[in-house]
Formats: sequence, C-alpha cells, structure tokens
Amino acid sequence: MNKMVLKFPAKSENEIFARNAVAAFALPLNPSLSELSDVKTAVSEAVTNCIVHGYREREGWITLTCSTDGARLDVEIADEGRGIADIQKALQPFFTTLPGEERSGMGFTIMQTFMTEFSVESEEGVGTRVKMSKSFSTRAMNAG
Ligand code: ATP
Ligand code: MG
Repeated sequence: MNKMVLKFPAKSENEIFARNAVAAFALPLNPSLSELSDVKTAVSEAVTNCIVHGYREREGWITLTCSTDGARLDVEIADEGRGIADIQKALQPFFTTLPGEERSGMGFTIMQTFMTEFSVESEEGVGTRVKMSKSFSTRAMNAG
C-alpha cells in the first residue's frame, strides 16, 4: 500500500506533468509498457477534461490522488469546476458539449477502455471526480 496526493493549477502543461507523475508512482508495481501507456492516456484525458470543461480554460485547481493495493493502481482526478448536468449522456461515445475541430467526445470512452475500473461523480456548480483503477498483470518480478 502506497499513496500520494498532488494538487496543481489547471494548465495544459500540467497534463504532461500529471500523466508522468502517475507513471512514476506506478513503476514499483512493475507494469508492462503497454499498461503504463494505457494509464498515462487515461490520466491525460481526465486532466484535459478538468481544464477544458471543468474550468473552461479559467483558473482552478486539480487534485490527483493515487494509491496502490497489491498489483492494483487507483487514481482519482477531481476539479471544483462547472460539473456535469447529465453523466449518462456525457459517457456516451462521441457526446461532447464542445463540438468543433478539437473535441471528439471520446475521452470518457478511452478512460473506460484503457482502465480496469472507471466511475465518475459530478454535481453542477460543485465539480467532477473521476475514479479509475488499473490491475497490472502480475509478472514473475512482481511476485509478492
Ligand atoms: P474529447 O475528450 O474527445 O476531446 P470531450 O472532452 O468532449 O472530447 P469526453 O472527455 O468524453 O469528451 O467528455 C464528454 C463530455 O463530458 C464533455 O464534452 C463535457 O461536457 C463533459 N465533461 C467531461 N469532463 C468534465 C469535467 N471535468 N467537468 C465538466 N464537464 C465535463
Ligand atoms: Mg475529453
């Protein structure tokens, strides 16, 4: 069991920081490169959502909490931004409230596909919290 909490401003450069911080935290679990890449992609999508949707490019804080339990990594990414009016709708592939060239509405779908467990809690005007976990394939070096 290990744990860490990071709090950083909702700026696009912190998306790279966040995904690499989670990868570094997960390294003792001896994940495969592809498992690590899945986690980094999911973290990027969640952090980007906080920046572009939660805070709409305005100032705000993102809280990233990580913990490990055996071969499982748990990640929580939370903002105190606008929140989501209809979570079921938001989870549908290709649903986006910012249609245009940049957003395809696939972030939540990617998180669900790349992680073992995924859930989202949100309240309008209060904020959004994404909880995800990844169970790494236990390999010989990781025994115990
Ligand atoms: P893409 O991720 O493909 O660039 P997207 O961000 O619109 O597009 P999702 O990441 O799947 O797609 O999110 C779907 C919708 O859920 C968003 O368009 C937005 O309305 C809402 N949403 C997601 N995360 C947040 C958040 N942190 N705060 C407020 N709304 C959010
Ligand atoms: Mg997104």
